[in-house]
Amino acid sequence: MRMAQAGSATTLGGMLVAIDGPAGAGKSTVARAVAAALGFTYLDSGAMYRAAGLSDDPARVRVEFDADGRVIVDGKDVSDDIRSPEASRRASIVAADPRVRTAMVEQQRRLIEQGDWVAEGRDIGTVVAPDAEVKVFLTADQRERARRRAAERGADPVEIERELVLRDQRDSSREHSPLTKADDATEVDTTGQTVDEVVERIVELVGLVRR
Ligand code: C5P
Repeated sequence: MRMAQAGSATTLGGMLVAIDGPAGAGKSTVARAVAAALGFTYLDSGAMYRAAGLSDDPARVRVEFDADGRVIVDGKDVSDDIRSPEASRRASIVAADPRVRTAMVEQQRRLIEQGDWVAEGRDIGTVVAPDAEVKVFLTADQRERARRRAAERGADPVEIERELVLRDQRDSSREHSPLTKADDATEVDTTGQTVDEVVERIVELVGLVRR
């Protein structure tokens, strides 16, 4: 796919900003804001694994996004169902299944084939699009990640931190496409940083490539 555009990646087939990292590092908020700032389309690859996790047949799920970014499976809007703690847990379990990964990666590649995208997840810069023009690995202190998620959900930070640690361990230790920083990704630590500061930094990185 993007390989065919070698040499003219920023003009012909569009541009891809890949943002990977652990749960609660701020990927969704930051990726959405970067996409808005640049006029790119946003892809939430985690939503696809979440939708697969809720299905009886995760490797066969076809996930669609409507114009408002709602997540649709078999004509049903699952956007709210996929955000529960149970859906997070199930997502990271099915995400270790190579059949599910192959199916999701194929759908993701087809989506980002045309146009300019900001895609976030765990394996965008390593597996889905190793030739992405900009790769960011977003991290934050574990405590802070848990605090952010807890504030978002109105939940207990200690309980959330326990869940995050388990999920990160599962995501980082799986055999297929584990969560890991691509060699050529820029690591951005969001601890103590505002969303605006992080977005500005990434937009700057995009500017360097576009020049
Ligand atoms: O990013 P989010 O928390 O919504 O992702 C849910 C789960 O989906 C992750 O914990 C991970 O197991 C899986 N995932 C993945 N690869 C991606 C995106 C998400 O394995 N590119």
